[in-house]
Amino acid sequence: QREIHLANRPKGLPTMETFNFVEKPMPELKDHEVLVRTLYVSVDPYMRGRMIDAKSYIPPFKLDEVITGGVVGEVTKSTSESFKTGDFVVGNLNWAEYTAASEQEVRKIDPTIAPITTHLGILGMTGLTAYFGLLDIGKPQEGETVVVSGAAGAVGSVVGQIAKMKGAKVIGIAGTQEKIEYLKNELGFDEAVNYKLDSFKEDLAKAAADGVDVYFDNVGGEVTDAVFTLLNKHARIALCGAISSYNKDGQDYGPRLQSTMIKTSALMKGFTVGDYAADFATASTDLGKWLSEGKLKYEETIVEGFENIPDAFLGLFDGTNLGKQLVKVADY
Ligand code: NDP
Repeated sequence: QREIHLANRPKGLPTMETFNFVEKPMPELKDHEVLVRTLYVSVDPYMRGRMIDAKSYIPPFKLDEVITGGVVGEVTKSTSESFKTGDFVVGNLNWAEYTAASEQEVRKIDPTIAPITTHLGILGMTGLTAYFGLLDIGKPQEGETVVVSGAAGAVGSVVGQIAKMKGAKVIGIAGTQEKIEYLKNELGFDEAVNYKLDSFKEDLAKAAADGVDVYFDNVGGEVTDAVFTLLNKHARIALCGAISSYNKDGQDYGPRLQSTMIKTSALMKGFTVGDYAADFATASTDLGKWLSEGKLKYEETIVEGFENIPDAFLGLFDGTNLGKQLVKVADY
């Protein structure tokens, strides 16, 4: 079976040379473990941060060891009383065709309630990130203006829809015309602007004619600079991600914000979804309910083939994905 290891620590944008495909024997099970056959792998921007040797909220990947991330799979062998062959599970597992996991490392999922892939997106880590960042930090009120960057991605698309449910006016920022159309026509955003156009700043100012009360930031950098010029008094800013700087060797850049923050009495807070682990169950129930009621829509971009995992990961930095980027590794 194949695994993908971190071959070296990338400088700038990772390349195919960052990854090494390694043949390994099938993992042996110890007591209370399951053998998981990988069906879908999640590729996520935060994984770029784990490729460098820097202190963070999560330790770096080790060189020449297997990369780990969100995986949905099927149990093919079990020495655990809690899991049986054929169960579907989700967990933070290896970028490998099979992983031996302890029973604490996986959670059973029910394929009859929602498609199994949703546990890597809208009902998984990215959906929870949107939920907590927006509701706990952004706190959108009816009639307020909410701006979200990275709007057509996994987190951003959920942020905008929840903000609409709360009665806010929602403006999405994304990088292609196709994404702009999707946000407005499929997800019901009030406005969407393309940050790659020369007219971006004017377009944003026009869309946010009443200013910005909540900014959910997925990208940082110049996009965020532009949003900051439009902040209203008592604006709330949820710092979720800064993908525009992830390949700049850890150097954050962007908003020159002190005077703006003071003038607007704005509140800015960074967070990681793990901060909210104690409340995951409540949030998952809400997200599942909204999904089943048709209040939340989601899109997945699915690439096929284990060998295409690195490519799918790199595509996040080109914006090739609409919604959640996944890789289908095996049929079930
Ligand atoms: P997405 O599905 O949004 O994919 C990444 C998107 O980022 C791309 O599709 C692309 O869209 C956009 N992008 C890439 N490069 C740039 C750039 N230089 N400037 C502006 N936009 C860019 O990923 P996720 O939804 O999984 O993650 C979104 C953000 O949230 C990331 O920053 C991630 O690290 C962060 N995050 C934070 C968590 C937390 O706990 N705080 C948890 C999960 C995610 P486009 O075509 O529009 O450019």
